Amino acid sequence: MKRRIALLGSTGSMGTQALQVMDQFPDLFEVELLSANSNSDLLIQQAIKYKPNVVVIIDEQHYEKVKNALAKEDCKVFAGLQSLVDCMSMNSIDMALSCIVGIAGLAPVYSAIENEIPVALANKETLVVAGELMMQKAREKNVPIIPVDSEHSAIFQCLIGEHGNVVEKIILTASGGPFRGKTMAELEKVTCEQALKHPNWNMGNKITIDSATLMNKGLEVIEAKWLFNIDLDKIEVIVHPQSIIHSLVQFTDGSIKAQLGLPDMKLPIQYALTFPQRLTSEFPRFSFADFSTFTFEDPDMETFPCLSLAYHASKEGGNKPCVLNAANEVAVAQFLNEKIKFTDISRIIEKALSNIPFSRPRTIEEYLEVDREVKEMF
Ligand code: MN
Repeated sequence: MKRRIALLGSTGSMGTQALQVMDQFPDLFEVELLSANSNSDLLIQQAIKYKPNVVVIIDEQHYEKVKNALAKEDCKVFAGLQSLVDCMSMNSIDMALSCIVGIAGLAPVYSAIENEIPVALANKETLVVAGELMMQKAREKNVPIIPVDSEHSAIFQCLIGEHGNVVEKIILTASGGPFRGKTMAELEKVTCEQALKHPNWNMGNKITIDSATLMNKGLEVIEAKWLFNIDLDKIEVIVHPQSIIHSLVQFTDGSIKAQLGLPDMKLPIQYALTFPQRLTSEFPRFSFADFSTFTFEDPDMETFPCLSLAYHASKEGGNKPCVLNAANEVAVAQFLNEKIKFTDISRIIEKALSNIPFSRPRTIEEYLEVDREVKEMF
């Protein structure tokens, strides 16, 4: 029996890499559902190639186009986020791989968990914004959530076989991004083009900017807290510019385990899809000759305030991580449109965090309401 995968967010950087991974194992995987936000051209191409039973285009403006293009295909076409949420009750889905970017990932992932579908999670906002709710529901339904984010995949792999041994701390590695070592004054002048040149990872635009501000690491700290049920003060960030050690776990005996590999998202994607098995891959192998040195340094949280803003928001809890995430989404979009400076990103987030009062959302809908409230401020 093939594993039937619902690929949420199939046209982005992660989604297309996930399909490349599945291409390697045609006997193991079958695409049951494809969804995309608005890239209808690529979604149509993918649907013709992978023949899913269901295709969902989130942006309803593209519905007619997708439906007409797939009229001859044996697949159902739906539009809108709610359709995607509803599709998570299909009992023909064996696993949902969420590669959706941003807050839109929340409701479909929650729905998958409610419907007892195992989740491979590449969408970090899901846990950043509503980690408590998601993990509670996952425990209640006994649904595995397997991380796809490379750092969390590394930690997940380090914890295999530890059978509840106590973790002393989790050490998340960060590349430091393209602006590592720059001063605040230099950062005032950096361009969008420079920010989009990540030294090691090939990723979508939003996350590449998040890597440059270190917000990506901040979001990952919060993600790790929920995913591994560990206190914030036991999560450390260390800058490792080579991006070969993907993260580490230190146990109470002082021993540290790490997971290493060349920076390629296809590796954690494949692991999440095939866990607990490891399947042979053709990915390039790490060579010691190419990396004679691994270096480490503390993150510069003064020059890159986004990381400390994330720690603060997570410590406060409630709606604050949601506010952080929403303000960051808006600020990054404005930076990508060249409306604000790079250094304005953290200022905007800081302002949003202090302007929006503390609250304690109880449902996905309430979190989405906080998200809307923040985005309306701009
Ligand atoms: Mn990551």
